[in-house]
Amino acid sequence: MSKIPITRPWLGEQEAEAARCAILSGWVAQGPRVADFEQLFAQRVGAKWAVAVSSCTTGLHLALVAAGIGQGEGGRDQEVIVPSLSFIATANSVVHAGATPVFADVTEQSQNLSVDSVAAAITSATRAVIVAHQVGEPADLDALGELCKQHGLLLIEDAACAIGSTYRARPIGGHGNPCIFSFHPRKILTTGEGGMVVCDDEQFACRLRRLRNHAMSVSASERAAGRAARVTYDEVGFNFRMTDIQAAVGIVQLDKLDVMLGRRREQARRYNDALSRLDLPLQLPPSPSFGETNYQSYTLKLAPALAASRDAIVAQLQSKGVGAIGGIVASHLELAYGRRTHSSLPHTVNWASSALMLPIYHEMTDTQQDRVAAELGDVLKRTVSGASSRSTSSA
Ligand SMILES: *Cc1c(COP(=O)(O)O)cnc(C)c1O
Repeated sequence: MSKIPITRPWLGEQEAEAARCAILSGWVAQGPRVADFEQLFAQRVGAKWAVAVSSCTTGLHLALVAAGIGQGEGGRDQEVIVPSLSFIATANSVVHAGATPVFADVTEQSQNLSVDSVAAAITSATRAVIVAHQVGEPADLDALGELCKQHGLLLIEDAACAIGSTYRARPIGGHGNPCIFSFHPRKILTTGEGGMVVCDDEQFACRLRRLRNHAMSVSASERAAGRAARVTYDEVGFNFRMTDIQAAVGIVQLDKLDVMLGRRREQARRYNDALSRLDLPLQLPPSPSFGETNYQSYTLKLAPALAASRDAIVAQLQSKGVGAIGGIVASHLELAYGRRTHSSLPHTVNWASSALMLPIYHEMTDTQQDRVAAELGDVLKRTVSGASSRSTSSA
């Protein structure tokens, strides 16, 4: 039987043609297509400025550097509060900037940060909070924004997964905080690799533009136009640029975004309907009252009775050709962060061990979805009855 992957980007002739045009134009590094993509992107998410970068990870890193967050005076560490339950890059970006990530917990109901846990993690060394809109589900920005304001902290949004999601009827990216998107193929809109930092502060945007290009005093286009007599470098910058080939693909993808979002939400409803009919101990993806998710991933949370068998459930689904995977990692338990088993992040640990992601992608058919739901139903029913017969025989 054919295998159903966890995801698959929706790319076609239009993207191929756009890439071809960029290549044949002779300008393949950051250039006019990147500038166009930035403008269209800012418009789409309702931000004043957009700065394209090589990935979401480098975008997060760059935003921290541009905000002056890193090593404090006298080498004192500056702290940035991040969710442990996130792709590892969220925490890594803080380390790249020279600051220290401090892990906060998520809530029982959602994979997004708990405001109480963030409040408890604030110290005199805290400079910023990075909130992730996990799997595209919007986080409660007002509550976190209020907390950050009280403590004079910068709120940065990791919107790697959240293109097209909304919070209080505005797209993610349009709430005034530095907000960073990913265009990796695992997300909804892809340029192969790539990222975008959006913000409303012109000075901040200028600093991002300069820093991504070696902190060079002039842009490549000014240079090419012969308008740069002398180039200066006032600080140490980076090469975090996006190519014009990627931007050309991004422009086409942006045009398809609303169609992609519509299809995702339709697919999520189909899964919700099929899985709620199964009457099994699992939690469907939350749909918060304050916003709309884009269903970048479709994540289920297994009840404790099933969670112990999560990895076995994933293995059985994979053996049936269903590319299900476990959920997001608890970064604080990875060796890179010293396996801090002493840390008390109960909801993070719980989500990391009981979440299950099902395949979802634009070209996935209704028939494929029904097959995934049916296989999942079979596997879970067998797991539930296996667990209860074990407990009966041991009684
Ligand atoms: C994918 C992802 C990233 C990293 O994105 P890249 O573009 O691959 O660097 C960061 N944060 C979260 C929450 C992600 O899901």
